[in-house]
Amino acid sequence: MIPAQSLVLNALLRAVHFSGLRKVVGRSRWRSDRILILAYHGFSKRDEHLWSDLYVEPSWFCRRIEFLRKEGYVPLSLDQLVDYLRGAEIPERSVVVTIDDGFHDFLKFAFPILSSSAIPATLYVTTYYVCHHLPVFDPALSYLMWKGGGKRFSLPWEKQGLLAPARGDHVARSRLHAGLRATWQALGISTEEKHATLLNVGKAFGVDMDEFLAERMFGLLSPEEVENCAVGGIDVQLHTHRHRVPFDDQLFANEISDNRRRLQGIMRTQRPLKHFCYPSGEYHESSPSVLRTLEVETATTCEFGYVTRSSNPLLLPRLLDSMTISEARFSAWLAGLMGVRYRRG
Ligand SMILES: [Zn+2]
Repeated sequence: MIPAQSLVLNALLRAVHFSGLRKVVGRSRWRSDRILILAYHGFSKRDEHLWSDLYVEPSWFCRRIEFLRKEGYVPLSLDQLVDYLRGAEIPERSVVVTIDDGFHDFLKFAFPILSSSAIPATLYVTTYYVCHHLPVFDPALSYLMWKGGGKRFSLPWEKQGLLAPARGDHVARSRLHAGLRATWQALGISTEEKHATLLNVGKAFGVDMDEFLAERMFGLLSPEEVENCAVGGIDVQLHTHRHRVPFDDQLFANEISDNRRRLQGIMRTQRPLKHFCYPSGEYHESSPSVLRTLEVETATTCEFGYVTRSSNPLLLPRLLDSMTISEARFSAWLAGLMGVRYRRG
């Protein structure tokens, strides 16, 4: 059941959206001195958006980008955001577009949309699976568990057989997935073994894994494709090598150095790699100081909010946009009406 408070808020947001008020608020002094960073992850090749709200349909993304253009929002680069934090003026209604991870579906769907709209965008690329041409095990397993909802399966390192929760039970699936992840990480299961297991799980659920691989479901960009994105104007930046933020500062620093070294090796266009996104929005108290020693200038989180002149450049909030966010709510975020900062999830 939707709480009464949410119903009232939704009605209010719709009223603002369909009146001219959003344009007035969007030009207010309050909003004009703030930047909203938008965050996206994956773009569905099949039905991934039904599995996770981190995936969106390409046609939906196209409508979002068209909305930005039509409403006169001004997309800035992260370098311009750094200038703003140092005191530079910005245009009214500034936004920054970011995309996490570097999945192949970005190149297939989002890149052409962003290019044709001349929208500057930052793509945070995690490199381990760029170097290993395999589906990223973690989300691919979760997706297959969703496909096989209600069916039994097994993992060779788990002693007992497993039951994939019903498709609609997102909570049970994430709980099971988190438990399984803790085990395969603790056991140090190799990439090859995880891949072989993924194929078996898919087959057990009746998924055609040859097609799955051919379509590059949950595959990251190849090194050449990362380079093509950079040549095409995308600002490719840091996201750790193995998509993790270890507690140990030295290990965290190594993750970023490994990621940076690999991206530098891939890209002929040697733009400075100085922008970072915390994988899964995770960070520790000492994370910003580690980033500072590595000369990273900005770091984005998964906390919702606007960037202001007093924001910590190494803990920048964003709006994780998704298909669960209505156009009225999205428009309210853009206009500056959603001033409350909160953490996703
Ligand atoms: Zn990520």
